[in-house]
Formats: sequence, structure tokens, C-alpha cells
Amino acid sequence: MSFSRIHQPLDVHLAARPEATAFRDFDGSRISYRALSEAVDAMVAELAGLGLQAGDRLLILAENCAALVGLVMAASRLNAIAVPVNARMTSHELQRIAPHADPRLTVYLSNVSPDAAAHAAEAGARSWQTALGALEISGPFPDAVPEPVRPGREAVAVILYTTGTTGTPKGVMLTHSNLLFGGETSVRMRKIVSEDLILGVLPMTHVFGLTSMMIASVVAGASLWLFPRFNAATVLEALTSGVTVMPAVPQIHALVMAEADKQGLAQLPTKTLRYVSSGAAPLDPDWKRRAEQFYGCALQNGYGMTETTAGVTLTVNPRGVADVSVGPALPGVELKLRNPGSDGVGEILTRGPHVMPGYFRNPAETAAVFDEEGFLCTGDLGRIDGDGNLHIAGRARELIIRGGFNVYPPEVESALNDHPGVLQCAVVGRTVSGGNEEVLAFCQVRDAAALTEKELHDHAASRLSPYKVPSRIIITNTLPAAPTGKILKNKLIETFRQDLD
Ligand code: ATP
Ligand code: MG
Repeated sequence: MSFSRIHQPLDVHLAARPEATAFRDFDGSRISYRALSEAVDAMVAELAGLGLQAGDRLLILAENCAALVGLVMAASRLNAIAVPVNARMTSHELQRIAPHADPRLTVYLSNVSPDAAAHAAEAGARSWQTALGALEISGPFPDAVPEPVRPGREAVAVILYTTGTTGTPKGVMLTHSNLLFGGETSVRMRKIVSEDLILGVLPMTHVFGLTSMMIASVVAGASLWLFPRFNAATVLEALTSGVTVMPAVPQIHALVMAEADKQGLAQLPTKTLRYVSSGAAPLDPDWKRRAEQFYGCALQNGYGMTETTAGVTLTVNPRGVADVSVGPALPGVELKLRNPGSDGVGEILTRGPHVMPGYFRNPAETAAVFDEEGFLCTGDLGRIDGDGNLHIAGRARELIIRGGFNVYPPEVESALNDHPGVLQCAVVGRTVSGGNEEVLAFCQVRDAAALTEKELHDHAASRLSPYKVPSRIIITNTLPAAPTGKILKNKLIETFRQDLD
């Protein structure tokens, strides 16, 4: 079936299987496709009544819940643009995004998020009763300027702001075509059918959750089990209660397995889980092996970014294959390397239906990120092996140059993660003198009292050439992380300054 708008699959499910479960929500309630469609109809009427028109932005301060899906679908019906933002960001961070998004209306999902409720109180928002929960809303803001709407599938459906580690956050525009391609590809690669129950633990305010959970589930007419916040024990319980598909990131797998260890579970006792994936951050070979052992099925590794509607590549390996490449390009996706060096590593470039049309109201950054042939320059480094599989070497701007040698942080991280006491770690460079850099490692460990820096140093030295061995290894109980679980590398040196000096 071919759709041109992200809300259209709902009409098909409403006609074919109205009573099938679309969601299990945070409070345990089940919402059918009929209930979802009716709630979307009502939201469309109310939002239109408040003046939301084609090309307007609908800012949504959210954590995962059915209302978030309803609002994204309602915006789509009105040809408006949904801007889902993680409610857990601070007001300071929000102030860097909201004025740029220039919304007509802002909705706060205070039904599920105390942080959204706090933002709503600060904004003086009013309550809004919907069939998917008691929300809050502010606006209409009369000065908001609608964007010109591009025709058909090329209209922008969603804007997602990047983490914005450098400078101001950039709003990635994703069209209906981008999202449908991403969702449909996710369904095809994972063989998702309407009987599937997808674990909904990645934030849908981030591209991986939006595509592999929300859009994929709606396209397939499957059921999505939504969790507003990650909790390892809850996820473990869900995995033994019928979940069949688990999209996740390495940190989630690590924490779920740590919880299983704590509970003395060597393996999932149930056999419903059939598809597990990992993406967004480097996958460690050791974790992959342990995770496959635990879940009882293969762990597929994928690579992508916000600007590419998540997927660029994905492995299709059977269980037990040690390969931690991110696999070949997805069908329909072009992939190439720019200026590969003698080690075969170059910048990853990609083109195709998954690539964004540009950054919202930011022509300079948009122009800077595309090459003359229309390829997106990802800023990531990688090499392609003889079988066409991509191996990620890290981000170009995180590459460490020590005494003239290239040090790729993921390789050093992987060596440290091999140590049984290490839960996860991050490696960054710090400029010392004359443009030279030193290698710093930050290790989150199981038991800080049981490990010394020297022991980890010796462990690294036994696995890595001397120039790759970190000059300092900081042992810690927690690492600064984004809501996706991604370690915020740019905050490490600042966070641990006292330990480093
Ligand atoms: P910002 O662009 O604001 O700095 P970000 O790049 O972290 O934030 P995302 O779009 O969420 O935001 O992340 C995409 C990045 O994640 C990729 O560019 C790549 O560096 C990394 N990445 C994604 N998948 C993988 C993977 N499987 N292995 C290694 N790295 C990955
Ligand atoms: Mg990025």
C-alpha cells in the first residue's frame, strides 16, 4: 500500500481492524485503532478551531504516551508541522528552541510528564481535555508565521531539534516522504506484522523512536507498548510479557542485562521476542554476544542520524555472528566515503529518500551539510569492507590525533568495555600542547571500590597500541547522558574537571 501522508495508515486500520490494539499506554490502558482515530478527529477539530493552519508549527513538550502519537497524526491531517521536544529539557534549553520553532500553539503532555507540567505552569498554559489524556495548551500565538507548504509527500511533517552540542540547536525538517520511507523500511527489514507488540522505550521525541516505533507501528498496524521513561526492571518485565520487537540503543541493552544479572536471570524465560536492534551509538562486540545469549535472538546493528530519518544501514545477521559493523546500505539508500585515507577510513556521505530537505530556517547550515551532488555529509568516519558492510570509526570532530596518529574513540571504548567491571565508557581527546591531544577515558563501573585506574590502564595496555592507551582513566558511578541514554561527550571534561586535575 502506498501512502502520501503519515496519518493515512490510520484510516486503513480503522476500516480493517478497528478493535485491534494500537497502544498500551503508560497507565496500563489499551487504546484501539478506532479510539485512536476518533481521538485524532477530535484533536483536529480543536486545533483547527484554535487557528492551527497548514504550515504552522505545533510544539509538543512530550514524553512517550498515546497523546503524542495522536498530536503528530492530528498535525499531519491539518498539514501543520509537529515539533516534538523532550519535556525533560530545562527551561534554559527550551528557550533556545521554542522561539526558533515559532509555534502557533504549544501542547504540554502533563498527563504523563511532571516536567511538561512544570513548563506548562511557567508558561501559564490552560488545561485541555482530550480523549488521550488531560493535557495543557498555550496559544494561539498570533505572530507565528506559517511556512509555505510543499506539495504532497514533500510537505514537512515533523521538525526534530538536534542535541545541539555545538552552537544553537538545528531543526531537522522531515517530510511525509522521509518518515514513510523510514517507517516502511523499518517494517520491511524487521518483518513487522499487525500481530507484533513493539517495545516503546526509546523517546519518540528522538528520530530513532519516532521512526522505528511510532511510524513503523502505525504503518504496520501493530501494537506499541509505550513507556515514558526507561526503567530496566519494567523493561525486563515487558520482555517477558509478550513483546516481540525491541528497538533499543546499546545503553539500554547494557542496563537491561545488568538488571537481569541482579535478578539472577541468565536468559529471558519467554520466547516471544524475535527481533532486537541497536543503534545510535557504537555497539560493543562483547555486549552483542552477551545480549544475544540473554535475549535468545540476533542483535541487529543500525546506523543513522536525525538528518537521515534514522536508518542509513542495518545488519541482517543470524545470531552468533561476531560482526559489529552497521551492515550494508538499506535498500534505496546511497552510501559513499569521501577522501578515504590509507586505512580506508573516510567521511560517510549518503543520498536518497531518507535524507532531510534541510534545517528549518537555516539555509547556511543546510548548504554546508550537502555536497555538490546532493549527498549529505554526515560528519561521521567509517570504512566499507569487501562485503559492502559499513564500519563506523567515530565522529570526525571526535577523532583524537595523538603524536600524529589517529585514535578512534570507539576502538578504545571497546577495549575498556571488555573489562568485566566496566558497564560503559566514553573516550575523548583533550588538547595538551602544540595541537597534540591526550586520550581520556571515563568508565562507569559496577563497583567503584573494586577497581583501580591502574588495573584498567593495564587492561587497556594489554589490548591497544601504546599511543591509543588513555593517559587518564576516570572511574565513576554515572556518566552524563541524553534522554536516549547517549553519553554526552561534550560534558565529560567539564563534569569531571576536579578528578582530572
Ligand atoms: P548533534 O547533531 O546535535 O550533535 P547527534 O549527532 O548525537 O546530535 P543524532 O542524530 O541522534 O544526534 O545521532 C546521530 C549520530 O549517532 C551519528 O551521526 C553517529 O555519530 C552516531 N551513531 C548512530 N548510529 C550509530 C551506530 N550504530 N554506531 C556508532 N555510532 C552511531
Ligand atoms: Mg549529529
